[in-house]
Parts: sequence; C-alpha cells; structure tokens
Amino acid sequence: MKLFDTHAHLLDEAFDLDREAVIASLPEKGITKVMEACCDEAGIDRVAALVERVPFFYGSAGVHPHSADEWTNETGDHIRRALRRERMLAVGEIGLDYHYDFSPRDVQKRVLDEQLSLAKELRLPVILHDREAHGDMIDLLRAHKDGLQGVMHCFSGSYELAKECLDLGLYVAFGGALTFQNAVRPIDVVKRLPLDRLLIETDCPYMTPVPYRGQRNDPSFVRITLDRMAEVRGEDVGLLADALYRNALRVYNIAEEADA
Ligand SMILES: [Zn+2]
Repeated sequence: MKLFDTHAHLLDEAFDLDREAVIASLPEKGITKVMEACCDEAGIDRVAALVERVPFFYGSAGVHPHSADEWTNETGDHIRRALRRERMLAVGEIGLDYHYDFSPRDVQKRVLDEQLSLAKELRLPVILHDREAHGDMIDLLRAHKDGLQGVMHCFSGSYELAKECLDLGLYVAFGGALTFQNAVRPIDVVKRLPLDRLLIETDCPYMTPVPYRGQRNDPSFVRITLDRMAEVRGEDVGLLADALYRNALRVYNIAEEADA
C-alpha cells in the first residue's frame, strides 16, 4: 500500500532534533510521497531545498494568512522563481484565518487574492487554508473560479461548504480531526463526498490523530486517518488507499509514470 501525505510541515521546529531520521523512516512505513507545505516567505527557499534533497518530497511556495502582512512587492516573484524548480508544484498554503487574526483581515484578503491570481498565471494548484472565514473565502474563490485547481486542506466545514468547494473544482482533504471523539460533522461530510475528490493529510506536526493526541504528528500517521475514512465510508482500506493516492497525483499534476 502506497500513501501520499498531501500536507505536511517537516520543516517545523518540532522536527529539528530528528528530521532526517523521521524522513528516512517514511518509505518503509508505506509513505511514498509527501507534500511539504510552505507557510511564509522565509520558508520558500527552505522548502525548495528540502524537496531538492529528498526525492519523494514535493513542495509548495506561498504565504499563509498568519504571515500575510509580511508580503512585499517582491514576494510574488520569489514564489514564481521557486515554482520553476523541479517537484515544486503548488501555490500554498494560502488563505484566510479569522480565528487567530495574526494579520489584518483586509491584508489577508489582498494577499490571498494576489496568490490566487499567481496560481492562475502559473496554471498551478493552490493549497487553501480557511479558518472561520468561509464567507469571504468562497467569495474570493468564486472570483477566481476560472482555471482554479487545488485542495481545501484540513477541512472542517459543513457538507454545504464542501459542495461549494467541489463546485469550484477543488479537492477536500481530511486529517487527524477525523479521528477525534467529537468528529460528527467531518464524518458526515466524508461519508457523503464523492471518492474522486477526497484526500488525506496529516498537517504534521499538528492535528495528531487519536490515539496519539498530545504527541507530535508525523506523515506515517496518515495511515490512521486512512483507516478511519475507510471505516466511516464502509470501503476496503486497500482500494480506498489506491483511490486517494491517485487523487493526490491528479490534484498536484504528478505524472503517473513518475511514480513507477
Ligand atoms: Zn499546514
């Protein structure tokens, strides 16, 4: 069984002491591909360097809403340059976060708008982060609907919101939250969505699934979310894993041959 962790942060300081060992241990645990999501401008070159060094890693470049107020006139070109490199495949993670509001909301919206335009220009998928900002998020995505491709990561919204994402051409990704005791709504959504638009991810080192909550998350725990998704949907784990893997290749435009 091959698993693709479609959203991870191995460059987080939580991995500073054993990053190489964690990465080296992944293939034997069935994790054959990982998308390393970039969070801020300082991360762009770090992600590119990690991806260059580790052949089964892919990367994104972009500015997270938490860091939106560090966007400058040069940031767009920095992202463009990084995304010309091999296995640098998406603009992300970008979005709106009205839970923490680390950057002013008007700045978050402007920076998201710029990066959605950039993704369209480059014909690349986006990795989207939406926390308590559903209305503004959907408005902006609708304004960029033409050519929009990508994933709504760490999905926690309603079925109606998930449907909106599908209508916009997006995939919907679930992580450790699917295993939480109070996961009534994500479970309902996972049951009802079409198989060809689902993804799994860890968002490590955050969002550790049950029964490891409180510990650091890592890409190998994507298997726990896979098992839970199979249980919830009443599907065979192996068949579901195959379908999710193919979805991940498709959303990030990775040629199947490259996976031989
Ligand atoms: Zn993330």
